[in-house]
Amino acid sequence: MSNARRFSQGVPSRCWCGRGVVIFYSRTDENPFRRFYRCEIGAQRKKENHLFKWVDEALLDEIRRLDAQQLEITQEIEDLKKSLQSTVEKEVKKQKNSLELGCLGSILWLFGRLGCQE
Ligand SMILES: [Zn+2]
Repeated sequence: MSNARRFSQGVPSRCWCGRGVVIFYSRTDENPFRRFYRCEIGAQRKKENHLFKWVDEALLDEIRRLDAQQLEITQEIEDLKKSLQSTVEKEVKKQKNSLELGCLGSILWLFGRLGCQE
C-alpha cells in the first residue's frame, strides 16, 4: 500500500486511475459500519489495486496536513518579520546617515523622530 499512501494524502477526491471516489460502509466484523473511500472502478474490480482509504484515517491525515501547513505559515511569517525588521533597520540607518548629512532624507517624515531634532 505504499503506492496508495503516496497518492492519497488527506481526503482523496480521485483514484490514481483517474476515476472518482465513493464512500462505502464496511460490513466486516472487524470494522462494522466504518466508512471508507473507494475508487468506483476498484469497487467492481477487487483484484486491481485502486484507491482504498478509511474515512477516519483520511480526516486524521487532513488534520495533520493542515497542522503542518499552519506550522509552515507560522515559520514564513516569522521569516517575513525578520526580513522586514532588517529592511527597516537598514532604511533607518540609511536615513540617519542622510539626516546627519543635512536632513535630506526622502522619507524624512517616516523616520524623522529618529534623528533630525531641529
Ligand atoms: Zn481507480
